[in-house]
Amino acid sequence: MKMTLKRQSDIRWAWSIALVLVAQSVWAAPPSPLETVKHLSLESARAGRVDYYFAGPDQARAQAMARLVDHAALMYERQFDLKVPVSLAALGPDNWFSEFPGIPYAIPWVSISEGLLMLPSSLTQGVLIKGPDALADRRRVDFVALHEFGHLASKAYFRPAAPEPDVPVSWFDELLATFFAYAYVAQADPEWASAARAEWVREIEGFTPKVLSLDWRFMRTLPGPELSRTYGWYQIVLNHRAAEVYERHGIEWLTGLKSSLSWPDAADWTPEILLQQLDTAAPDLAAWARHFGSGGRADDTNKK
Ligand SMILES: [Zn+2]
Repeated sequence: MKMTLKRQSDIRWAWSIALVLVAQSVWAAPPSPLETVKHLSLESARAGRVDYYFAGPDQARAQAMARLVDHAALMYERQFDLKVPVSLAALGPDNWFSEFPGIPYAIPWVSISEGLLMLPSSLTQGVLIKGPDALADRRRVDFVALHEFGHLASKAYFRPAAPEPDVPVSWFDELLATFFAYAYVAQADPEWASAARAEWVREIEGFTPKVLSLDWRFMRTLPGPELSRTYGWYQIVLNHRAAEVYERHGIEWLTGLKSSLSWPDAADWTPEILLQQLDTAAPDLAAWARHFGSGGRADDTNKK
């Protein structure tokens, strides 16, 4: 999450509980997560393009996640001639809590400047583990890991030289990350993509936040549990929207954005500047974003 943390660090959170902690200033990001990981005396190995760190018992899971990320990196390399340097650390609860106290276990995150994904090694503990079966649990964690990798890919693809880790319009930044993730899943495992979309529709329909808006500053006033639920819901709405865009336009949608948005000026984008550009570059997304929050339902999940 970037809202307040971005001034101190480029560490980005996938899920909302971190936002609570940041808002409450309970936790400060370590200056170098990579150095922190290296001090844990973990083992390390390499899967394709991905160096990964793990404690011995976690080797199989760490390797599986490294291979997953490597496969996604290979796809981006082939389709965009894009190289995305990335390593990952798979941490069990003990190391996680010793180095990042106060952070609920199993919220994957990424250090953009170090190209490091921080991932949970457990498939039985953590906030993303909620059934109905082990496959669904693993896919949920893996998708968020791919989303975090998507932040790295998005930065490397659109703004390789920019010092800013992210685009200042949060919903769009999150949607791009998920688009990279979903494009990989849709090509590598269509059944997974379909299952994920079905789960997102159920989640979207199962909750309605108090405020429907892509201006997320309203969340700062929400109490912790409601903030978590609300921010998670918004991430899922964007997952679903990214999937809709992908199914309609395919991977080439990214190519069009790259050539038609004013990326050198991205650090100065406001929501309205971005929307004006999207009116030309991605009119259906612009229309969705303009309509969001004004129609009673936050997302039209029935519309293909
Ligand atoms: Zn994200």
